[in-house]
Amino acid sequence: MKKIETLQCIRCGKDHSLSEGKYTCTACGGNLQVLYDYNLIKKRLNYDELKDNHDRSIWRYQDILPVEDLKYIPPVQVGWTPLYRAEKIAEELGIHNVYVKDDGRNPSASFKDRAGAVVVARAREMGEKVITTASTGNAASSLACLTGSLDMKTVIFVPKTAPAPKIAQLLVFGAEVIMVNGTYDDAFDLCLKASKEYGWYNRSTGINPFTREGKKTCAFEICEQLDWETPDKVFVSVGDGNIISGLWKGFVEFKRLGIIDKLPQMVAVQAENSNAVKLAVDSGAEEITPVSGNTIADSISVSVPRDGLAAVLAVRDSKGFAVSVTDQEILAGIPKVARGASVFAEPAAAATYAGLEKAVREGKVNSGDNVVMVVTGNGLKDVSSAMKSVGQPNLINPDMSELKKLVEEKHIG
Ligand SMILES: *Cc1c(COP(=O)(O)O)cnc(C)c1O
Ligand SMILES: [Zn+2]
Repeated sequence: MKKIETLQCIRCGKDHSLSEGKYTCTACGGNLQVLYDYNLIKKRLNYDELKDNHDRSIWRYQDILPVEDLKYIPPVQVGWTPLYRAEKIAEELGIHNVYVKDDGRNPSASFKDRAGAVVVARAREMGEKVITTASTGNAASSLACLTGSLDMKTVIFVPKTAPAPKIAQLLVFGAEVIMVNGTYDDAFDLCLKASKEYGWYNRSTGINPFTREGKKTCAFEICEQLDWETPDKVFVSVGDGNIISGLWKGFVEFKRLGIIDKLPQMVAVQAENSNAVKLAVDSGAEEITPVSGNTIADSISVSVPRDGLAAVLAVRDSKGFAVSVTDQEILAGIPKVARGASVFAEPAAAATYAGLEKAVREGKVNSGDNVVMVVTGNGLKDVSSAMKSVGQPNLINPDMSELKKLVEEKHIG
């Protein structure tokens, strides 16, 4: 592909051609990043072109995505999710502007569709017949959704603890589901072995260099939706670290193309016991140390972050910071986002709000800041956790006197 210059290792810098760079670095095993011929791309992708582009999906950025022919893209609309100005949240937290990017509005109801769409298109372009992934749940349900109606076999490895609605999605879309009696990290290793044994194309996060490419489109959209302004801070929940590094890459590329002139600070929000990226950011360590990964927020429950180094670099290079939050704070965030912005977030997505609240409390956010918080997954993905964050509904007989009693007792209306 003419527009791609190299697949470069983020760890040792080694360059790979497109065919050499199928997965990770051939020298050190580090993750690869796709670098383009930005001077070439500049001619086609710029402010004027985008202004007149009516494609409301990630494919409006095709010129800077690793896909040659749009005939291979999955048949559903991915991206161009709404960015809401959440006045109520901004007021409560005492910040100038808080924007909520509602990525739960994607076809399988999570941010992962951005990555899946690019990887599926790429896989079809390469003539792959079987695609596989390990996932805490959302990457899998996304892949199953995107390949649901395609002539492509999808093999999924998930930990048996994945929330039921995500499993339901996998089965409904017709994926081959292999539930692993273990953690996400166990599922990840098994998927990697299977991919080597059977030659299945592996979409797993970190291994596959193209997931970050899909994820960066969210940053492009944020800039456009803010009328080409860059936010001051972007809060993102972090598990493997692929979303935050993808967003960061998007902002960097838009600046490189001259579409924006300033970069935001990236803020990584992690669950207390799944905080490997935060530990590395805070200590300045070069290597990432595994943690237990235990948290109710299944989508960010990770012992060894598979794109951890890229996440740490995104935070460091952007002069951002990392916050960790407890499961209690994560659960409390669900109704906060719902009542502050009318958006139902799954636990991992609500963690972003909890992190923002904590950062404000610790004086890390300026009152004049424009803050974006990315809601990475829809609340219907994990209803049983949502129910833990709120009380029980009222239950009465269909009887007026019982209703009157209830209205009086509870001061309803
Ligand atoms: C995958 C996911 C994340 C974390 O993304 P990473 O790339 O693993 O850091 C956060 N929230 C939701 C809802 C997710 O599905
Ligand atoms: Zn390397």
